[in-house]
Amino acid sequence: MSADPAVLRTAMEHAVAFAARHVEAGGLPFVGVLVAGDGQPSAAGVNRVRETADPTAHAEIVAIRTAIAAPGSHPVAGATLLATGEPCALCYGFAAEHGVAAVRFAVDAATAAIWGFDYRDGYSAAGTGRLPLARTARPLPMAGSLAPFTRYRELHRARTTEPLRTHDRTTSKEPS
Ligand SMILES: [Zn+2]
Repeated sequence: MSADPAVLRTAMEHAVAFAARHVEAGGLPFVGVLVAGDGQPSAAGVNRVRETADPTAHAEIVAIRTAIAAPGSHPVAGATLLATGEPCALCYGFAAEHGVAAVRFAVDAATAAIWGFDYRDGYSAAGTGRLPLARTARPLPMAGSLAPFTRYRELHRARTTEPLRTHDRTTSKEPS
């Protein structure tokens, strides 16, 4: 059973708002959250690659790992994964391996690329086993979806004198 569309919209609104706050605090604009069939959202995950030196600690994977580890574990199998930015190939694969039933994203990968996060190469390299969940993933855009991404760019443009193109290449290695 998948969650009610209105429940998913509300959970995505919260995820986008959380991403906006996370960007203001110095983080990346990616947030992942699972919504179980009964509509119960999991704890939000954010990218922890820098803090943990774990290259797989993407927002969606952090959300799934947290749900698995939590006492009274939030169900991952059959849940809908909401992501403020479309998951990368690694996250699609991880979600599929853990039984996530559906993926909805607020900002698609092509749009994320415009704002400095281009991880689309991974989709073709990922192999066919990871494609089904990506094929059924659908956008769930809403007012303010793009704000965490545009704000991230504003903040990091202000902080650096490096050309943005150089910054793009740096950030592109740290997808969602
Ligand atoms: Zn990812």
